[in-house]
Amino acid sequence: MANGIAKLKKGDNVLVICGEDKGKRGKIIKIFPKQNRVIVEGMNFLKKHVKPTQKSPQGGIVRQEGPIELSNIRLVCNKCNKPTSVKQGLTKEQKKVRMCKKCGEIIDKV
Ligand SMILES: [Zn+2]
Repeated sequence: MANGIAKLKKGDNVLVICGEDKGKRGKIIKIFPKQNRVIVEGMNFLKKHVKPTQKSPQGGIVRQEGPIELSNIRLVCNKCNKPTSVKQGLTKEQKKVRMCKKCGEIIDKV
């Protein structure tokens, strides 16, 4: 998936197709282009140990979203509500946008 990252952007709705969160949907909140990974809101929670601070003197374990490989997610089209892939399209104003390959809906907000 060499050019996969350009097809997904922050704020996109995606479906997890692999692992513990398989079948769940969420929104991309962070992208790591070099690693080909993204963080999806509410997915792939990892336990992280934190040192005691003034606020929480006990320290402890917090749950935090961990990165998910791009190959484990699919973009979900807001219109046809199905996992899809994107194609490039042009708006009436000749602006390049991402479109749903299945229904032609423009995915990018214009
Ligand atoms: Zn669609």
